[in-house]
Amino acid sequence: MRTISYGRQYIDDDDISEVVKTLKSDYLTQGPKVSEFEEALCKYCGCEYAVLFSNGTAALHGAYFASGIEKGDEFITTPITFAASANGGLYMGAVPVFSDIDKETYNADPDEIIKSVNEKTKVVTPVSYGGNLYPLKKIYEPLRKKGIVVIHDAAHALGAKKDGFKITDFCDMAMVSFHPVKHITTGEGGAILTNDRTFFERLKLFRNHGITKNPDDLKFSKEPWYYEMRELGYNYRITDIQCALGISQLKKADKFLKRRNEIAGIYYEEFKGLDKFKVIKPYDDENTINSFHLYPVLLRNSKDRKRFFEYMRENNVWVQVHYIPLHLMPYYRDNFGFKEGDFPTAEDFYGREVSIPIFPSLSDEELQHVITLMRKF
Ligand SMILES: *Cc1c(COP(=O)(O)O)cnc(C)c1O
Repeated sequence: MRTISYGRQYIDDDDISEVVKTLKSDYLTQGPKVSEFEEALCKYCGCEYAVLFSNGTAALHGAYFASGIEKGDEFITTPITFAASANGGLYMGAVPVFSDIDKETYNADPDEIIKSVNEKTKVVTPVSYGGNLYPLKKIYEPLRKKGIVVIHDAAHALGAKKDGFKITDFCDMAMVSFHPVKHITTGEGGAILTNDRTFFERLKLFRNHGITKNPDDLKFSKEPWYYEMRELGYNYRITDIQCALGISQLKKADKFLKRRNEIAGIYYEEFKGLDKFKVIKPYDDENTINSFHLYPVLLRNSKDRKRFFEYMRENNVWVQVHYIPLHLMPYYRDNFGFKEGDFPTAEDFYGREVSIPIFPSLSDEELQHVITLMRKF
């Protein structure tokens, strides 16, 4: 039996043949596949604009840039997330502020976020942890009134819904990632989704060195070869090879989402009666969907966590912990003075969390292996 990871890509023959077609075409990068994938994403996510990037972290860097956040400004996010959620803000020279998490959703508590806002706050970056859509509606109006830009880190949440609202509602920009463990993959890749034309223009500029060729924007010449570098951007472009894969993957996104929810439902039914674990129940409402990038299991007793982690790995199940709180990383302790005890709910969560396998290609036999191990523990 292969090692059963906590997450893994699903690639089929259609994906492979689409990539091969692009390899044989005229364009390997900056060809037609990029805008084709952007249009498909807009359609799938129900938004106006999409800008693809070479990875999700670069996409977030673009979103922080587009927000206008500057050196010394502050942004608020959750301590229970991957480093990338905050790194874009750090690249801009901004100062990270954390809001402790809610015990039930594992997302930053919306009331805590509102309380943490001050005159220096320029951006709030809520993360839909595991695929449970953030209650964006609760925070968006009060933050918008203060001119704060909301960047939704929806890396875990492609296809998620809450009361009929989607990842792009009640936020200024939403980021999705196409890393192989995420819902669909391009190898590396990511995108910002937005309904705002100004953000869209700034994101496109940022992705391509800050260079524009748009005749209406050019200041100093209109010659046919002419372009202008207007801002300091980066080369954060994605290739046509990757986008060919992304277009093919997106066609299967609903099928993937269904399988993830099916697995989560089976886990919940199997484990809800076990004293040792706290597990998540999928929503049984078509307007509220957890996209289950992760299936986080909380050990009731933090003393069991290490033993459980090692036991699963010894038995071929490559579980993972999501996440080591960001404020406890040496970089954050050294540069911003964070310390143990700053965010007690997040730290308690970290002490008890283990993510067990959930991905569309998980076979019934592999699923059964995980269940048997968990029941025996
Ligand atoms: C995956 C992920 C990202 C983006 O990561 P990339 O690997 O750069 O695409 C951002 N935030 C979170 C929470 C993630 O899990």
